Amino acid sequence: MATYDVAIVGAGPAGSTAAYRLAAAGARVLLLDKATFPRDKPCGGGVTGRAARLLPFSIEPVVEDVVDRLECGLRYRHRFTRRARAPLAYMTQRRRLDHFLLQRAAEAGAEVRVGETADSRELDARIVIGADGCNGSSAKQLGLAEGVVHGVALEANYPYEPRYAGAMVLEIAVIRGGYGWVFPKLDHVNVGVGGNAEEGPRLRRELRRMCEAYGIDPDAAEDTRGYRLPLRLPGTQLARGRTAVIGDAAGLVDPFSGDGMYEAFLSAQLVAEAALAVLAGREQDLSAYQAAVERRIAPLTRAGWGAKRAFERFPRATYALARLPVTFRVLEKLLQGELPQPGAARGVEHAAIRAIYALSRAAAVSRSYRSAASS
Ligand SMILES: Cc1cc2nc3c(=O)[nH]c(=O)nc-3n(C[C@H](O)[C@H](O)[C@H](O)COP(=O)(O)OP(=O)(O)OC[C@H]3O[C@@H](n4cnc5c(N)ncnc54)[C@H](O)[C@@H]3O)c2cc1C
Repeated sequence: MATYDVAIVGAGPAGSTAAYRLAAAGARVLLLDKATFPRDKPCGGGVTGRAARLLPFSIEPVVEDVVDRLECGLRYRHRFTRRARAPLAYMTQRRRLDHFLLQRAAEAGAEVRVGETADSRELDARIVIGADGCNGSSAKQLGLAEGVVHGVALEANYPYEPRYAGAMVLEIAVIRGGYGWVFPKLDHVNVGVGGNAEEGPRLRRELRRMCEAYGIDPDAAEDTRGYRLPLRLPGTQLARGRTAVIGDAAGLVDPFSGDGMYEAFLSAQLVAEAALAVLAGREQDLSAYQAAVERRIAPLTRAGWGAKRAFERFPRATYALARLPVTFRVLEKLLQGELPQPGAARGVEHAAIRAIYALSRAAAVSRSYRSAASS
């Protein structure tokens, strides 16, 4: 008999919350990470309202600022501000958040082993879950998540600026396929830029420009770090038999926003439900997890690809739609978890989203014409 019911490789937001859910339900869980905690991970650390709502416990002890204001610019030329009626995101530092989540998993009864690099093929468990992020090897070892492409991002920390407290600053289209941001923390601000992989060589220059545009001294940068954003293509396989990948290991980052913690928490919940069904003998394998991802996450990912395409090809027209108060209502509901995906908006809010989808379709058509013309 296997020593563990479930072995989880990687103790980031995906792995630790999956371990928490499974251990809390009575499974014998092993959670492994090659790092020792607390450890950092390049990330804006913004936990959206919908991501926080998914968790079975509060992250309040590690929240450093609560954001209810969006300041959104387009290529440093246009700008608008909107205030939400409830928090859009909770700002954390990953060093603290991830340690907190790991401790919750341990308290729930998971056996935690850190400082150990694991091979997903060699674990003594009935079920194996790869949660080792976009640079991990589980996906390859398990033959999963082959259809994943990557974006890139660069970020750094700068001295605290009180003007950014409570605000999320986004500067759209400064990088192809992405944006720049300023996120407030307790004693510093986090500034970053991210977008398509080919933009890698431009990131350093653009991070400086983003700082200059927002009155932040670019030479005060600390902990400057680049990292990849894994983006799943439709249909990519995430489970086989009693193995699965979740979070960044499954490429579940939103293609437009670059957020991945909501998807990490949700995929952890979905895989935990599927694993408990296997352990209880109700299911033979984890195929219910794959089906649940297609139902709960894939529509959001599709919307993310659509918004990304529209902003890339028609930045000014898409921005003009995005700045409408009605579009902000949809964004607000999405970030707060009141809407599962933009297409579920109703009435006049639905009309605004349809207009963005129309731009996205036009962008797809113009791209296929351009590639036909150049071939
Ligand atoms: C610059 C940047 C900014 C971002 N900002 C945001 C944001 O503000 N909000 C948001 O929601 N998302 C953001 N994201 C995305 C977010 O960081 C990821 O989606 C999230 O970290 C995914 O969590 P995870 O648990 O899947 O993987 P990770 O957080 O990458 O954790 C994987 C873990 O696996 C471990 N590991 C790797 N290999 C092995 C091995 N062989 N054996 C054992 N352990 C292993 C690692 O040590 C690590 O602890 C950002 C990403 C980047 C790059």
